Amino acid sequence: MTMISVQEAQTIILGLVASLQGTETISLDEATGRILAQPVSSPVDFPYWDNSAMDGYGVRFADVNQGDEYQPITLKIVAEIPAGIKPSISIQSGSACRIFTGAMLPDGVDTIIMQEQTQQQGDNVLILSPPKYCGQFVRKKGNFYQAGDILLSSGTKINEPEIAILATAQCPSITVYRRPRVAILSTGNELITPTEKLQPGQIIDSNQYALKAFIIKNGGIPISLGIVRDDPQLIKEKIIEGINSADFVLSTGGVSVGDYDYIDKILAELGAKIEVNSVAMKPGKPLTVAKFNNGCVYFGLPGNPVSALVSCWRLVKLALDKLSGIKGEYKPQLITVKSDDDLSSQGQRETYIWGQLKLINGEYIFTLAQGSQNSANLINLGLTNALAILPIGVTTIKQGEMVKVLAL
Ligand code: AMP
Ligand code: MG
Repeated sequence: MTMISVQEAQTIILGLVASLQGTETISLDEATGRILAQPVSSPVDFPYWDNSAMDGYGVRFADVNQGDEYQPITLKIVAEIPAGIKPSISIQSGSACRIFTGAMLPDGVDTIIMQEQTQQQGDNVLILSPPKYCGQFVRKKGNFYQAGDILLSSGTKINEPEIAILATAQCPSITVYRRPRVAILSTGNELITPTEKLQPGQIIDSNQYALKAFIIKNGGIPISLGIVRDDPQLIKEKIIEGINSADFVLSTGGVSVGDYDYIDKILAELGAKIEVNSVAMKPGKPLTVAKFNNGCVYFGLPGNPVSALVSCWRLVKLALDKLSGIKGEYKPQLITVKSDDDLSSQGQRETYIWGQLKLINGEYIFTLAQGSQNSANLINLGLTNALAILPIGVTTIKQGEMVKVLAL
């Protein structure tokens, strides 16, 4: 198979992924970060009744629209209406009520005069400046939303604002898509777990943990399949376990052209259709993407820790968003910012340079991670929150020039 562009890989991968259908019902308390599987509509008008937007006085517009500070209108205060009470009184011409923010308007009141434009004198209130229009500072019933209006559509991710809406719409339980299940597998004879004693020649399996964090951060359920040696039979067994238990399988290692790189061959033996196996990006060129008959999509990621993460951030993330049921366009979040360093690339592949977006004097700038930009150097990946992207054919971006950045 040939090397394809990152954009082509993105299109192919998104074409392989179908959004989850399974749903579950959860409580409002558990809803943060979940994806709505049904639209939510308002059970009532919102506001539920006419109410005051200010602390002040409730009046009849016709009574007060003539006066000014030299000839203020005087009204008799006949009631005080705090928030939370249904007023029992009706305000007649010549009268006003003291009213507070959020309090329900009594009959007869159509306009609120804010406290600052009044002066209280005993049982009377002087209106020092007439309202601009009838209905001033009144939040009318149904002004924000009306009963039956759609408040949130299916496919919306639930964060703080959506939680507030769901609470207001009196939805104590919510139907959301089930979380995607993602199996994670590390391949390599050299790998040990972080708790084993490191012997010469060995490498600690960091990918298992990095990918797990990536899945959790993006709303999935990671299924750790652990480390498997470069043995085709053992790898095959683990892959079968993965495709039978997960929506996606992510493995790292074994997808290059080395003698121990068996993944593509095993996938083909298991009947998967390999759709991608090399992408013109750096790091991250070896990337195998295949689909099984049961719908499971397999991502064979490069073993190098930085490469594995860059492939996840740039491509797996979009696939996971689509799988999760999030509605919208699946495309990378790119922003154009000034680079604070010289950036370079060999120009043959789309190059992803890791570093940080920093907010300086109200402007985002990109700074390069210190130390070597080597895909095995996971150490200088610390604090990385952005990847600068140099397209094919661009070999340098000078300090002070603009660069496209993928925010992580
Ligand atoms: P591979 O793609 O299997 O040829 O691996 C490429 C490089 O990545 C090798 O130096 C591996 O030791 C390293 N590597 C592979 N898997 C992991 C892993 N799970 N954690 C950390 N490094 C790894
Ligand atoms: Mg390997």
